[in-house]
Amino acid sequence: MKTLLSCPCGERIRGEDEDDLVEKAQAHLAAEHPGREYDRDAILFMAL
Ligand SMILES: [Zn+2]
Repeated sequence: MKTLLSCPCGERIRGEDEDDLVEKAQAHLAAEHPGREYDRDAILFMAL
């Protein structure tokens, strides 16, 4: 299961599980990188 995403900005986002990770990653993108939206598959593809 993938629960860690290293954002290119240096932020590390960790989730309880994949659903939580996707939710937190999308919240981070919305807050820090407006205009960049990734869907679940894209986030999990980049995640560790
Ligand atoms: Zn970021």
